[in-house]
Amino acid sequence: MSWLIQRATSSAFSRSERGRDMTSYLPQVPGPGETVIGRSFSIGFGGKGANQALMARRLGARVALVGCVGRDSFGDMMLANLADDGIETAWLGRADAVSTGMAVIWVEPDGTNRIVCSPGANELVSAAQAAEAVAAISPAVVLAQFEIPQAATRAAFAAARRVGAITVLNPAPAAAAERELLALTDWLVPNEVELAQLTSTTSLADDALRAVADSLSVGRLLVTLGSAGVALVDQDSVLRIPAPDVQVVDTTGAGDVFIGAFGFGLARGMGPAAAAELGVLCASDSVQRPGAQAAIPTAEEAAEFARRH
Ligand code: ATP
Repeated sequence: MSWLIQRATSSAFSRSERGRDMTSYLPQVPGPGETVIGRSFSIGFGGKGANQALMARRLGARVALVGCVGRDSFGDMMLANLADDGIETAWLGRADAVSTGMAVIWVEPDGTNRIVCSPGANELVSAAQAAEAVAAISPAVVLAQFEIPQAATRAAFAAARRVGAITVLNPAPAAAAERELLALTDWLVPNEVELAQLTSTTSLADDALRAVADSLSVGRLLVTLGSAGVALVDQDSVLRIPAPDVQVVDTTGAGDVFIGAFGFGLARGMGPAAAAELGVLCASDSVQRPGAQAAIPTAEEAAEFARRH
């Protein structure tokens, strides 16, 4: 596949920190005061920044992660796991008296998930740390999420502009975005829920998406649409890239897989449509397997999936 041919000099860079995912697979979610017996339980590595970093890494990018973990055993395990995956950790801080970021996840039989994310040490990433890291690494692409303070992301994006890096903002978990941050964003990549939170827009029709892109004053807008794939929004048109029809097991981390692969594509000089197509392929492959990081495809798995779909 042409997208597996890499320019050796490109690197992707992902901010935010990997949390620890505790996932219960349930027959249905509990109501208030109710206890439900789970079918199975697993612990895995996760966190939006880490998932996105790992996807880009598995496709062959050089990746550094900037963030913060606690001095607890979860922090130790995360640093070791990142290093095993070949992700650079020199810009990860360690904070006292605060836990490493954690996520508690419920997954229903049809693959629908509900997630409680506790940011912990992620809240302590500073603007100075983020800007210094971007200046030192001088990456091709900076990917950022909302699991760390927006002020730190804003400083990272300002530094990215100075070194000519492309900035990609995944406004997740859903929250309102600071205008100054949007102004430094080349690509805004929300899912439907995050888009509604940013704009109060619920319509996903072409006209509505174009109006939203105009009103947000970001470079470009790309909306992920679950089983419907993604919509790449231009001033005059909306390109919809459908997702392949697959047997869904667990969609946890699908959006992260999309963004990691999309960022990889941009870092390798692909056009937006080709990078988005690569993202859809990798993400749709991943939903066939349980877990977040455990489901992230290797370059070979993604290429094999692309041959079949
Ligand atoms: P999550 O929060 O579950 O990690 P998300 O809401 O951020 O995911 P989605 O828009 O649901 O992201 O999905 C991202 C991509 O994952 C889609 O563009 C698509 O390629 C793939 N995907 C998700 N759900 C499905 C599905 N049911 N069938 C095929 N592909 C899917």
